Amino acid sequence: MKFNFSERLNKLPAYLFAEIDKMKAQVKAGGVDIISFGIGDPDLPTPKEIVNVLKKESEIDINQKYPSYEGLLEFRESVSGWYDKRFGVSLDPGTEVLSLIGSKEGIGHLPLAFINPGDVVLIPDPGYPVYRAGTVFAGGIPYLMPLLEDNDFLPDFSCIPANILEKAKIMFLNYPNNPTSATADKHFFNEVVKFAKKNGIIVAHDFAYSEIYTGEKENDSFLSVNGAKDIGIEFNSLSKTFNMTGFRIGFAVGNEDVIKGLGAVKTNLDSGVFQAIQLSAAYGLDNEFHVVKDNNSIYKKRRSLLVGGLEKLGYKVYKSDATFYVWAHVPEMNMTSKDFAISLLNETGIIVTPGSGFGGYGEGYVRFSLTISENRIEEALMRMGA
Ligand SMILES: *Cc1c(COP(=O)(O)O)cnc(C)c1O
Repeated sequence: MKFNFSERLNKLPAYLFAEIDKMKAQVKAGGVDIISFGIGDPDLPTPKEIVNVLKKESEIDINQKYPSYEGLLEFRESVSGWYDKRFGVSLDPGTEVLSLIGSKEGIGHLPLAFINPGDVVLIPDPGYPVYRAGTVFAGGIPYLMPLLEDNDFLPDFSCIPANILEKAKIMFLNYPNNPTSATADKHFFNEVVKFAKKNGIIVAHDFAYSEIYTGEKENDSFLSVNGAKDIGIEFNSLSKTFNMTGFRIGFAVGNEDVIKGLGAVKTNLDSGVFQAIQLSAAYGLDNEFHVVKDNNSIYKKRRSLLVGGLEKLGYKVYKSDATFYVWAHVPEMNMTSKDFAISLLNETGIIVTPGSGFGGYGEGYVRFSLTISENRIEEALMRMGA
């Protein structure tokens, strides 16, 4: 018996990395020691203190039951306290904070709460693929906003046609940005608030890399500018901050109605986050941790090693101190990012992510992830001829 996938599933773009995955298996089978810059998952461990809280709390029977839908009040209070301390943003833990099974879950579900068939969602290109998938699953129409290097990878709202704006209901943004590593400041976020208010658009800012920066300047929260809470929410996550990608815990904060809508979708689909995980996450947020600083100083060394080496090899690299990604131009003229990634893998056993995997405007670039050790970065640079 053969079953056809739904139209909505078939509408998603083909999985670009399938070919590279296949090639990787072949190269590996040939005995090559693969060095992967492809992984957006921290190699550094979850802090022991957090793991210990998880161990202890998982033994307590009340934590073994169904959790509450909106998350433990204790966790939401920790989020609210952390947002106040870290970004100067005050949030009501009762109505303006929602726990998520990783921020990916919330991002994917948000359009189900606000999009009717035919409504438009504004999505950055290049960008995290979930914005588009969530939009298509809800019957919405993705409108891609080009992120161009000439504009420091910020969207230019004046280029969006009026007939699109009329139908636009949600706009996704993501700074510090995956894959480009670009950042946004309060000046830009003020423009976003003005634009969204004028056009009646919900802003959903993905702030997954809020704590990953290696320069002097800390990353700005979208919610820290005036009026942001009137029109939007911010997604954040413990995944990158505390190296907790496997725990699956994140949260949405901001506008009460938007949080309510997202929460209503979730009530119908999932049953919340394991309480022991919520309590371990709360511990992480409550305690001023050396770990964020320590991780950032590791990323800083890795970044300067890789960027220095790539530049010596003739790569043109986009300069940023945020995220754990390096976004570089494909060094070979007239080669697509995918062909370049495949030839690099075949010739050196090194994996990079082709920019076109994040959208058409990612073409011409490749992404290196700084989630491997300095030794491996050095080895990679040597193989590439540095
Ligand atoms: C890693 C990542 C996320 C989501 O991480 P979760 O583990 O689901 O919290 C969201 N957005 C971007 C851009 C990411 O890179």
